[in-house]
Amino acid sequence: MGKITGFLDYIRKDDPQRPPLERVGDWNEFHLPLSDDVRAQQGGRCMNCGVPFCQAGMLYEGTTFGCPLHNLIPEWNDMIWSGNRGHALSRLLKTNNFPEFTGRVCPAPCEHACICGQYDSAVAIRDNELCIIEDAFSSGGVKRLRPPQWSGKKIAVVGSGPAGLAAADQLNHRGHSVTVIEREAHPGGLLTYGIPNMKLPKTVVRRRIDLMTDEGVSFVTGVDAAQFKTAKRLMEEYDAVILCCGAERPRPLGFDAKGVTGVFYGTEYLKFAVERQVFDMEIPAASFARGKDVIVIGTGDTAADCVATALRQSCHSVTQLVRRRREDYLDADGNLPADYAHEEASAVFGLDPRRFGVQVQSLAAGEDGALTGVVTTEGDALPCQLLIGATGFSGCAENVCKAFGVKKGRIVQTEAGHFCTNVEKVFAAGDMRRGASLVAWAIAEGRAAAAEVDRFLIGYTNLVASI
Ligand SMILES: Cc1cc2nc3c(=O)[nH]c(=O)nc-3n(C[C@H](O)[C@H](O)[C@H](O)COP(=O)(O)OP(=O)(O)OC[C@H]3O[C@@H](n4cnc5c(N)ncnc54)[C@H](O)[C@@H]3O)c2cc1C
Ligand code: SF4
Repeated sequence: MGKITGFLDYIRKDDPQRPPLERVGDWNEFHLPLSDDVRAQQGGRCMNCGVPFCQAGMLYEGTTFGCPLHNLIPEWNDMIWSGNRGHALSRLLKTNNFPEFTGRVCPAPCEHACICGQYDSAVAIRDNELCIIEDAFSSGGVKRLRPPQWSGKKIAVVGSGPAGLAAADQLNHRGHSVTVIEREAHPGGLLTYGIPNMKLPKTVVRRRIDLMTDEGVSFVTGVDAAQFKTAKRLMEEYDAVILCCGAERPRPLGFDAKGVTGVFYGTEYLKFAVERQVFDMEIPAASFARGKDVIVIGTGDTAADCVATALRQSCHSVTQLVRRRREDYLDADGNLPADYAHEEASAVFGLDPRRFGVQVQSLAAGEDGALTGVVTTEGDALPCQLLIGATGFSGCAENVCKAFGVKKGRIVQTEAGHFCTNVEKVFAAGDMRRGASLVAWAIAEGRAAAAEVDRFLIGYTNLVASI
């Protein structure tokens, strides 16, 4: 244990954030690091509880408590306190392939399970995690690890989101030859095309892909594995195939938008935004928010990211319509929690963008079909030239499952507690098997699928799986 009285001596300090009005002017990351002294104190606040619920990773009534990866949190908190960051890194990498992603975007269910948080504020676990890995990257502590020998087995991983990347990383380190097949022009899945740059800089994703490439993983982009001939070839040429294609099918919007331009799903809108801002590509003018009245439907991460992105594209106004009542979102003290995007919208326009208990009833469009406004269930007519539906996901794509002959309901069906599908040597992991979830769960899924594939290929495994 770090400092025995640390939780009494030090208060929680989160990583500082750039002021909202400053950060909406660019796409740069908005969190800043703490000084080393203060970071050590944040590690010292960990109480090293007899039962560290923070690392339990349990699902209770659909909500995650504790870390899905079973990160060895009290151990690395102790090492942060004692200044042994190198040792902290080795413990962190035992359970998490990509702490630089989770340290930035994980909603930190570990902190909800932190006993210190029952009496005061939880230990700043996520920020501590980020500090360990970023410190290691900047000091040369992250080394290229190539397997000492190759097994001769070939594995295709379809999809390069966090689940596919974790599976590929694990199997590559076991000495299997891994090729990651990705439909888009750049790897990373929602890390690249969903979560915006200010939350997860694309240079951070690229840094990991480059490291994995250097370690032996091959990435092939721009290939759609939902083509029957591609799927057939993959099954013929590889010893195992792992499908990690996400749960990209959006939930229907609930109103008729046929023939109207200016209506997008949240993931479509965010993808266009990344393509324009990061990859300098041409995107449809209707998907760009500059000068427009923007309405975002829905709540959760995707909706918040759409609000923050519209602000950075200099929208004229932004409103977020939330179906449920405001009371449903209040915390124990009766306050309405605000995401980073809500703080930013309040700073720019002087009011919280959320309107609760309201839905879109119908759309208004000009003769050319361009959206001009919406009518809400309260009867208001709101001006709107860009409408973004971030109402969640209804499961994985049909076409890729068909191409591989894999059974699916809403998501791919695997044997209970396993990752193998009904098709010999085809496995599935991540959102595609679990349903839309979190980056930490996707990494946990990729690791567990890798362990199962390793056992399938060589009869045993020493890969560690948390699920
Ligand atoms: C906007 C947004 C914000 C989010 N923010 C957070 C957050 O802050 N924190 C958090 O923990 N989680 C967040 N999530 C959830 C998280 O991103 C996902 O749970 C996670 O990315 C799932 O990982 P995955 O690897 O299973 O799938 P994905 O990341 O969806 O990757 C699937 C990959 O498969 C590829 N693919 C699909 N079909 C094919 C095909 N036929 N051929 C080849 N490749 C194919 C896709 O192009 C994609 O690259 C967010 C999700 C969204 C949409
Ligand atoms: S991955 Fe998420 S839940 Fe696990 S330790 Fe990191 S922040 Fe906490």
